[in-house]
Amino acid sequence: MSAPPAPSTWQVCASCGSEIPETDPHPRCPRCRGLLELYHQPPAQGGNALRATFDARWGVRRGALASGVWRYCEAVLPTAREHILSYPEGNTPLLASAAVARWAGAPELLLKHEGQNPTGSFKDRGMTVGVTQARRVQARAVACASTGNTAAALAAYAALAGLPALVLVPKGQVALGKLAQALAYGARTLLVRGNFDDCLELADQASERLGAYLLNSVNPFRLEGQKTIVLELLQQLGWEPPDWIVVPAGNLGNTAAFGKALKEGRAWGLIDRAPRLAAVQAEGAAPFAQSFREGFAQRRRVEPHTVATAINIGNPASYERAVRAIRDTDGVVTTVSDDEILEAKAIVDGAGIGCEPASAAALAGARRLIREHVIRPRDRVVAVLTGHVLKDPETVTRYHQELEPRPARANRPIEIEARLAEVERVMGG
Ligand SMILES: *Cc1c(COP(=O)(O)O)cnc(C)c1O
Ligand SMILES: [Zn+2]
Repeated sequence: MSAPPAPSTWQVCASCGSEIPETDPHPRCPRCRGLLELYHQPPAQGGNALRATFDARWGVRRGALASGVWRYCEAVLPTAREHILSYPEGNTPLLASAAVARWAGAPELLLKHEGQNPTGSFKDRGMTVGVTQARRVQARAVACASTGNTAAALAAYAALAGLPALVLVPKGQVALGKLAQALAYGARTLLVRGNFDDCLELADQASERLGAYLLNSVNPFRLEGQKTIVLELLQQLGWEPPDWIVVPAGNLGNTAAFGKALKEGRAWGLIDRAPRLAAVQAEGAAPFAQSFREGFAQRRRVEPHTVATAINIGNPASYERAVRAIRDTDGVVTTVSDDEILEAKAIVDGAGIGCEPASAAALAGARRLIREHVIRPRDRVVAVLTGHVLKDPETVTRYHQELEPRPARANRPIEIEARLAEVERVMGG
């Protein structure tokens, strides 16, 4: 008798090591509630041949392979072909800006603009895989807790799939654009009187009680999609890895996903060395940076307070896998103040590129690491801009119109009577 063929993809519990079929819909290990992780059998063809496969798909215009996520389906979810739900997403630009590079002190700095995704953040890359998986397991509904962008992405992809969506967001702590998207795309939206960490716990319990498929970033399928930020930027660089990848860090899903992408990328021969990861937290929400300074001796939690709502998280869910990512890549974790975040944002915005506050933390962090000589001035650095400038219009208008003392880069609008003389007057004759 021959054994059944080994599955090409399966889930493994990071805590107890149990192997679980890939179509098991539990968001955590059914035995010990540990976090799950996906394993793919390495593609038959690695190295050059795999790169050539990905390169041959560049520029495909229709179908799932037109997506900047599903282009890498061998590395994302090779078994999902029939169920793929794609906008498409990804295919985001890698931008060079002399003004931004000068401010950061890094001439070789590039910006990977994930705000150019369909709903305006990198969350779409995870959500196309998450909702695809929801369809594979025949979920009746999907749910998540969110600081806003996950809610926007879930709401949009659930609508595309024709699935009801439930989102739980912290009342008063979600940027205007994100809340507007969740409502517009038709998700049942609960404004929770509590913080993000409260929402996360509640979503966990509620999804189990209501039988909804949970699509928080603990969901391992989302992380598979987010890996493609790294794969795509490597491909855009001709598979020549940069020296550093700098990313804002909140719940640590991206940090974890980037670590996994780089580990697999090396194991499969896509790259021969990994860039170093730099995770950047806001000073007021920096439990991971605190753990890093203590050599990851223990997990920390804090009461979070930062202007960058997307990283206003005190107890990051993907802590353990992010620790592995930092260790595996000889990475670092640093912090930046809210003032530095707003200044970095004004620089990116003023360059005509634009991003939301959390994204600007990556740039502010890159500048700090260059000043501390951790990143060398000639290093090739890619900073990931995670979200679009229109996500958080309130922070933009507050900075330019209201903040006192007036920030150096504030662009105050001027109100006038409807007369040419008035225009001439304010324009200085
Ligand atoms: C979700 C999000 C982050 C934080 O990413 P994590 O994976 O939670 O660390 C940063 N920036 C933006 C714009 C986000 O939406
Ligand atoms: Zn387990």
